Amino acid sequence: MRTCGGVTQLHGASLLLSREGRGHLYAPGSAFHTFTGSQALRGMLRRGVTGLVRRLQKEHSACGAVTISTTRPAAGTASSRPKLKVHQPECLKQPINVPSKLLMGPGPANSPPRVHQAMLKPLLGHLHPEFIQIMDEVKEGLRYLFQTRSEVVCCVSGTGHAGMDTTMCNLLEPGDVILIAENGIWGERAADMATRHGAAVRTIKKPAGDVFSLDELEAALEQHKPAVLFLVQGESSTGALQPIEGVGLLCQKYNTLLAVDAVASLGGVPFFMDDWGVDVVYTGTQKVISAPPSMAPIAFSHRAMSKVSARQTPIHSFYSDITWLANYWGCDGVPRKYHHTGPVSSVYALREALALVCEESLESLWARHAACAQRLHEGLAALGLQLYISDPAKRVPTVTTIRVPEGMDWMKVTKYFMTKYQVEISGGLGPSAGQVWRVGLMGYNCTVDNVDRVLTIMKEALDQ
Ligand code: PMP
Repeated sequence: MRTCGGVTQLHGASLLLSREGRGHLYAPGSAFHTFTGSQALRGMLRRGVTGLVRRLQKEHSACGAVTISTTRPAAGTASSRPKLKVHQPECLKQPINVPSKLLMGPGPANSPPRVHQAMLKPLLGHLHPEFIQIMDEVKEGLRYLFQTRSEVVCCVSGTGHAGMDTTMCNLLEPGDVILIAENGIWGERAADMATRHGAAVRTIKKPAGDVFSLDELEAALEQHKPAVLFLVQGESSTGALQPIEGVGLLCQKYNTLLAVDAVASLGGVPFFMDDWGVDVVYTGTQKVISAPPSMAPIAFSHRAMSKVSARQTPIHSFYSDITWLANYWGCDGVPRKYHHTGPVSSVYALREALALVCEESLESLWARHAACAQRLHEGLAALGLQLYISDPAKRVPTVTTIRVPEGMDWMKVTKYFMTKYQVEISGGLGPSAGQVWRVGLMGYNCTVDNVDRVLTIMKEALDQ
């Protein structure tokens, strides 16, 4: 056995020796051994590599001047690498398990086959001309959906929360006052995010299920003179529909920007960004649009972009910087630069989902949601159930909140839906937790057949 120079295998362990007689020992199952002189060798004897070290001593004494050093060999050599201690997980050797479920909760909704098929198309580079063309088509579809001619219409790669965060981090500078109309969990989240961005948060509150009148909003604008007013159009935690029309004009009067969360409502109810004077609006792909969760479509008005360009402090997040996003999405007339790798397959899916929205038309989409929601509400009443929001004008058609009758275990019902029929309806969230069931009617899932299916299963579940 050669022991001076090169690598020697001893009982499966590697000994690396330099010509000068310096060496490093790697024993199987143990990390790099450091040792010098006979003291360390004795230490190793105690640590249990006895046989190996005995042979070492023998071999090296024959070869003369052997010092076993603590100097690690150059990185990258096979013997310098640690052993793998985390092994391939067993679960990944099994096939993926994706049962087919009907998603009738407050999102995500199922996607139509055309949207799934789009995701099977080959990947393109995120700045290839063909992909840029698809992004441009998405922007056009979003302009239709938001009803805006604004230049800055794009997507944040992330879900609805990413849209909320992008709104806050671009519109707010430390110390700016933001007024948040809070009547459910999404107002609370917005207040949390705005605080993290250093804003001075003021809230106007209403009980869960209620909404704000123009007079109430005007009084709060007058009192707080905020830089931004934040409203949630469809409060999915309660099922409330906040009227937006008229608020933009008020905001302009108080030199305030109007930001609207339309994640759970856009496409299900009318929305007119330009006509209503909305400055920032965002939504999520997985609700009425019926594409998979992955992006937050967002639009900034000219006024909103002016506030961004007049900032005294940098935008805190590079990833959510609207000036970068606008450039990547080709909204600023300047050649596109790499900002991040767009989620290519998700953009294909969104493009097809928007094509379906356009084929159907917004008016027909709104009418379908209104009609299905009414059918659901009437059917629930016929089952003796009460809705959480008593005033029909305050209900968003996309999320129906149903009061859980006194003494009933809400989870038993949701479990019945899922285990017997693979249909999802969900429980409450935030202020409505434990008090309601939430049924979503969103985009592709918003059909008379699905309404009737939910009603039939609900009747069965209640009869249990
Ligand atoms: N806002 C509203 C009104 C929502 O309903 C949701 C999602 N339920 C969000 C924001 C957050 O969206 P996401 O879960 O896609 O991040």
